[in-house]
Amino acid sequence: MTPEILDLLFPNKLPTVAEIEAKYPPRQLPEGAVVSRLAPSPTGYLHIGNFYQGFMAERLAHQHNGVFFLRIEDTDQKREIEGAVDVVLKALAHYGVHPDEGSTLDKGEVGVYAPYTQSKRKDIYQAYAKELVAKGAAYPCFCSEEDVEMRRKVQTKQGLRPGYYGSYAKCRNLTDEEILANLKAGKPFCIRLRSTGDYSKRIVVDDLLKGKVSLPEYDIDVVIIKANDGLPTYHFAHLIDDHLMGTTHVIRGEDWLPSVPLHIQLFNLMGWPLPQYGHHALLQKLGEDGKRRKISKRLDPEANIAYFAEHGYPQDAVLEYLMNLMNASFEDWRKANPTIPVMDFPMDIHKISNTAGALFDMVKLNSIAREVVARMTAEEVYDKVLTWAKEYKPEFATVLENNRDKCIAIFNIERGIGTKSRKDLFKWEDAEHEMEFFFNRPAYDESLLAPLAHEDIQKVAAEFAAIYDPADDNQAWFAKVKQVAEQNGFATDMKAYKADPSGFKGSVADVAKILRVAITGRVQSPDLCSIMKILGKDEVAERLKING
Ligand code: GLU
Repeated sequence: MTPEILDLLFPNKLPTVAEIEAKYPPRQLPEGAVVSRLAPSPTGYLHIGNFYQGFMAERLAHQHNGVFFLRIEDTDQKREIEGAVDVVLKALAHYGVHPDEGSTLDKGEVGVYAPYTQSKRKDIYQAYAKELVAKGAAYPCFCSEEDVEMRRKVQTKQGLRPGYYGSYAKCRNLTDEEILANLKAGKPFCIRLRSTGDYSKRIVVDDLLKGKVSLPEYDIDVVIIKANDGLPTYHFAHLIDDHLMGTTHVIRGEDWLPSVPLHIQLFNLMGWPLPQYGHHALLQKLGEDGKRRKISKRLDPEANIAYFAEHGYPQDAVLEYLMNLMNASFEDWRKANPTIPVMDFPMDIHKISNTAGALFDMVKLNSIAREVVARMTAEEVYDKVLTWAKEYKPEFATVLENNRDKCIAIFNIERGIGTKSRKDLFKWEDAEHEMEFFFNRPAYDESLLAPLAHEDIQKVAAEFAAIYDPADDNQAWFAKVKQVAEQNGFATDMKAYKADPSGFKGSVADVAKILRVAITGRVQSPDLCSIMKILGKDEVAERLKING
């Protein structure tokens, strides 16, 4: 390739490859340190699968003396959305998955390998592409998108493997004169790799998560620099960036697995050591038809990681759930270490789920969330509910702020008593409803007490109100419930009741139910004795006045 052509292909003044390499020297890290990254496209949305991948990469790096960085892959400028990087940063910050380098919410980009945003690295990619063209490993292609598409269709029709390869790579062998003529005619061009792969041969790749996988060599002359804007494609950008940024481990979705032979070819072409690739199974859901399918942005609101913050899932619940999906040994570890933070779990990279896609199951997530919340103190719950409410329910936040002690007392009901710790509240959006009756006297609904007779209900409530004392402990409180039961012909001995239900108006459980419905408006509630204490004697008396 003549210097004249090279200058026409790359008219901007570019740094030399040597200059770039000098500017971004290899990292000085301890032996065995892992450098990994999350490299999302800024689409205004962080898919749970991307978050899952970022979390895995972050754990791997931070548990192996390494570095986790965030790279913004915005070379597809058509899809760029304003504020999209902040969406990613906020999601990561919310879960405490902290990149050491890359964009930040308040300090711009940090880290010596900056810029970490691909659209700002155009000259770097161009410099390497120029070098490849100069040595004949890449070439300009003047085929239009329509040409390429048309040829694909013809190949498909003829039963051939579609793609720009071998003799179908029309611009592969253009002469310098032809290239020059095209350039002088102002024809747009992209830069393609001159692939050295042979599709009839296979290579075995040793994937960190999948183990050994056999794949055909890659013979397509892929585009490395795009025609419209001179920006690189993913394949080329990740090659250059992961080399310069010293990535040792590329953790990404298994949809990239078929591209690994291409990526190996690219690294070999440059003479650079390969990163260790690890392709994780994609998160799946059970569809309506009972079949597994990928979690879909279109069908599943929980495909967006923001869903969990909006609904007030505790961060640790989401992290524990994802850790559970990643690593089969997490569950046992959690059982053995119920109080240690999830981030202290020593993730075993060799036990990452990697066969069929990991099934995303909200029921399991909810049950983990219940355990996570059960481990918190009432103050922690209060703080977390308040933080959530400030963002998503400001009026509720005001109630919380104006009634701090009362709210903490409410969250403290049945808390911290081992396995019996209360499990009803597991996501913050439910707190307002759960606490409602503490702040507003509920409407009395006698239908909840059918078939008990109105006069009996009235008497039970009134007699209990007369002897109720908030100073009573649970035992004394329950003795009074029993006393009222006995006074009114309700059984206190469950055996006797079961033997002859018709001999009683009901049992002590019905008496408790009367009190519960009158006090809370519900048939189920946390410990009623504690609830009454928080409401106080006067309010209890008011609620136990059954009219009519
Ligand atoms: N931008 C790519 C994606 O979102 C990154 C893949 C990778 O991590 O290398 O799929």
